[in-house]
Amino acid sequence: MGVPTEIVICGAGVAGIAAAYHLAVKQGVRNVTLVDERAPMSLTSDKSTEAYRNWWPGPDDAMVRFMNRSIDLLEQIDEESKHRLRLNRRGYLYVTGDSASVPALVETAQRAAQMGAGALRIHAGSVHDPEYIPGAAEDWRGQPDGADLFLDPALIRRRFPYLNPNSVAALHVRRCGWFSGQQLGMWMLEQAKAHGVRFLSGRVEAVEVVGGRVQGVKVATDAGTCMLATRTFVNAAGPFVKQVARMMEVDLPIFSELHLKMALEDRLGVIPRDAPLVIWEDAQHLPWSAEEWTALAESEETRHLLERFPGGAHFRPEGGAGAQTVLLLWAYHLTPVEPRFPIPIDPEFPEIVLRGMTTLVPGLAVYLKRLPKSYVDGGYYTKTQENRPLIGPLPVEGAYIFAALSGYGLMAACAGGELLAAHVMGAALPTYAPAFLPSRYADPTYQRMLVEWGATGQL
Ligand SMILES: Cc1cc2nc3c(=O)[nH]c(=O)nc-3n(C[C@H](O)[C@H](O)[C@H](O)COP(=O)(O)OP(=O)(O)OC[C@H]3O[C@@H](n4cnc5c(N)ncnc54)[C@H](O)[C@@H]3O)c2cc1C
Repeated sequence: MGVPTEIVICGAGVAGIAAAYHLAVKQGVRNVTLVDERAPMSLTSDKSTEAYRNWWPGPDDAMVRFMNRSIDLLEQIDEESKHRLRLNRRGYLYVTGDSASVPALVETAQRAAQMGAGALRIHAGSVHDPEYIPGAAEDWRGQPDGADLFLDPALIRRRFPYLNPNSVAALHVRRCGWFSGQQLGMWMLEQAKAHGVRFLSGRVEAVEVVGGRVQGVKVATDAGTCMLATRTFVNAAGPFVKQVARMMEVDLPIFSELHLKMALEDRLGVIPRDAPLVIWEDAQHLPWSAEEWTALAESEETRHLLERFPGGAHFRPEGGAGAQTVLLLWAYHLTPVEPRFPIPIDPEFPEIVLRGMTTLVPGLAVYLKRLPKSYVDGGYYTKTQENRPLIGPLPVEGAYIFAALSGYGLMAACAGGELLAAHVMGAALPTYAPAFLPSRYADPTYQRMLVEWGATGQL
């Protein structure tokens, strides 16, 4: 016996909170308990870049439709909460300085348009070019969607003068931007609590399964062990989702990567405060002077700094008027690791990221001599091989999962919570639901697709 509870959710990160919100507020479930051993929104969900995009490559349009739905819901919440999310739509700007990469960029853009990301407008420096509407810095209303592809280097220099002058193509994807992830989580949590959701501070230690069906959840709290009698359990344990699934003898096809992020005070204003999120597509060798290069080559310990680093370095301004912070990210190590906290921080990260970022924004080189105040944090991308989430029933009756949200959990939370709640309640499912089912790996056709998957859209 235990405390009767209709639904128990493990994890009060953005996934668990979005699940609780959709179950209680939208589906009317009255007796939901959200369990977390930490404060809500304090683990991975607190470390995000808080960006969103409807730009997702892949063999089908499931991610684009899922994210478009999630962004619709984000916009609704931003309206309903009187712009509490500070949602903007400044876009993502993918830039390359390598003319050999341009055909692939054009093809990706054309494919994304076909998959529902919105119209593609090409700007090639001709009088027949369509109009380019620059993004509004602080709002999303009335902003274009789709994408603007710049193929004329002179135009790129005019529109984005802070970028590498050798940039040959730039793709400004428009239904993208950023928002306050904390405000999103807190707003949904407040609403959920107002609709009866109870937050229980404690650690889920066991899930009781009898005859292949969930019967209860054991939680260790400061006041002692507490048994919750429930027939429905949602695993939204973020980087610990695998351990929690093992409590039901379920093995999940997921792994984790460590991703770091650096906040830098751009006190000289090198990056305009109204810039979009900018990504340098090209792999590169870090720019060193000849003397630096020679010195680094001499030692076994520093030689790795001369190797080729992958593409994907990106940044965005952070904070409103008067702020100077920019967030810089570059996932140059992507080895799967076992999540542990506090996270290990690579002491070379600030130097490598800032140096690599000078390829994208040469003006940042002023900070190389003396690194300004900066702060590094991060967390784990817990993910599947093809970088799609796990949302739906597990092979134990009454058990569900909402996890493997990789580097897109904030942007996916709203549609993901809605989808999870629809599964639990047996409601009508959207057409993208099968793409995220944990059971998809049992399908031999899916296994064959995985072999040739291609780009996963990870940043
Ligand atoms: C550097 C970085 C940048 C990112 N940038 C973006 C971005 O720009 N946009 C975006 O959308 N996403 C981004 N993400 C991804 C996003 O942050 C995650 O996908 C999201 O936060 C995952 O949320 P979650 O609720 O699944 O996990 P978490 O936030 O980690 O929450 C899981 C919770 O489960 C609890 N828990 C685990 N096990 C137990 C247990 N046994 N008992 C009780 N509680 C338990 C934990 O305490 C934790 O609070 C980024 C992530 C990182 C690391």
